[in-house]
Amino acid sequence: MAHNFDLVIIGGGILGTSLSYFLSFLNKSKQIAVIEQAPRVAFHTSGRNTGKVHAPYLYNPEKKKMFAKAAFYGYEMWKTYSKIKDLPFKEDGVIEVSHDKKGTKVLEKYLKWGEQNGLNEKDIELLPQAELKKIEPEIKCHSALFVHRDASTDYSILTKSLMKDSKQNGIKFLLDTKVTDIKKQNDKWKIILNHEHEIFAKFIINAAGGESIDIAHSVNVARNLTDVHFRGEYWKAPKEYYNLTKTSVYSVPDFPDYPFLDPHWIIRVDGKCEIGPNAVPVFSPYGYKRSENLKEFVPKMLEMLGSGARKAIFDKQFQELAVNEIQSSMSKTVMIDRVRSFLPKIEPHKITEKGTAGIRSSVINDKGKFEPDVILIDDEMSFHILNYNSPGATGALPFAADIIHKLDKKGYFTNENFDAKCGPWKFNEIVEKISN
Ligand SMILES: Cc1cc2nc3c(=O)[nH]c(=O)nc-3n(C[C@H](O)[C@H](O)[C@H](O)COP(=O)(O)OP(=O)(O)OC[C@H]3O[C@@H](n4cnc5c(N)ncnc54)[C@H](O)[C@@H]3O)c2cc1C
Repeated sequence: MAHNFDLVIIGGGILGTSLSYFLSFLNKSKQIAVIEQAPRVAFHTSGRNTGKVHAPYLYNPEKKKMFAKAAFYGYEMWKTYSKIKDLPFKEDGVIEVSHDKKGTKVLEKYLKWGEQNGLNEKDIELLPQAELKKIEPEIKCHSALFVHRDASTDYSILTKSLMKDSKQNGIKFLLDTKVTDIKKQNDKWKIILNHEHEIFAKFIINAAGGESIDIAHSVNVARNLTDVHFRGEYWKAPKEYYNLTKTSVYSVPDFPDYPFLDPHWIIRVDGKCEIGPNAVPVFSPYGYKRSENLKEFVPKMLEMLGSGARKAIFDKQFQELAVNEIQSSMSKTVMIDRVRSFLPKIEPHKITEKGTAGIRSSVINDKGKFEPDVILIDDEMSFHILNYNSPGATGALPFAADIIHKLDKKGYFTNENFDAKCGPWKFNEIVEKISN
């Protein structure tokens, strides 16, 4: 193993691996490593999500500008990449339903946001109940937004393929390897791996997902921010429900100010159906099991009470929501009832098997408010990507290209050929689209 790297990317999720993909074409001369604590890439959130390639209709073009742009171009890019690599990508659309007039007003707002974010009338349309009934007779709603430009995929497969390409172009992937300490030593970082080995790097990119805040804190960055973790759980539907609808169904969230979306009816890329996710507060980015949450309970509570999260925890609406979500975790019926409000045919007793849960980590600022967009912190010798949430998987490719462009402007990548072809794309052309 080489012990000196020009660049170390912490995190082999879809974001860290997308960064490595572009860098592998652009930076043939640099020694670059991706460090991932799990045995494979996309082991955590990137491989445990709903698998939708989202059109940008849910994102306020002002508050979630970067996510919206990345989702718009991400769709095109995943479509192209999946085609040339023969990977799963199904253009199956998504339907967002409202239950009443108030919800329909929200759908009208989503339609407007979608248009502002680049969608046209072929991509997205608002349908009255009667029109939707002709297409999807089992759905009960007041009105529906039919988003045709939405697709299903398997992000673990896409991430693995990006890793394969990156490795072929010379990037090193250190799997089963956890960054356990980072210290500045002269003009380099000394990085301790698995508490025993040490490597050195001139520059670090922190793409550590649910641990990105901890990595930032460990090098004295983003001390005013903290995070809260939510476990999104799924239930698998039995085969008899696979033809209940032709399209996945989402519903207008009851509390749009909070990062909890009501559970969806999901048709996965392989045709299997699931209900989920909810959003249960947990104490670790890996809190899939009770034992991990118990272990992390005290340190996480102490961290939260000493930060802006304290204000969020004591907010009454937040408490009510948390209780709702915990209830829907403890009681399958409560969660399924939320989906039955628009798909009444589903009978909770027929749903018996749990799906794979994924954890979302939302950043809270020192005022106790959830940060709506991704946070980028450009520090000397390191770059931190925090709050990289939904639709992070959709936007990972263009977003990663933009980060590399930002670092280039900082002067990090000198004499590199930014006109180079990265797989099917010219790097400069992606950057031009995303940074406009
Ligand atoms: C329930 C749920 C459903 C979602 N559905 C969708 C969807 O349908 N479509 C969509 O576009 N997005 C969706 N998202 C969002 C999307 O999955 C995330 O935005 C995206 O996966 C984030 O990728 P990442 O690479 O930043 O993080 P991660 O996938 O979490 O990767 C970070 C990696 O860093 C590693 N790491 C952390 N600390 C260390 C360390 N110290 N040493 C070594 N390695 C470390 C971790 O092991 C992890 O593998 C969903 C998210 C959730 C939770």
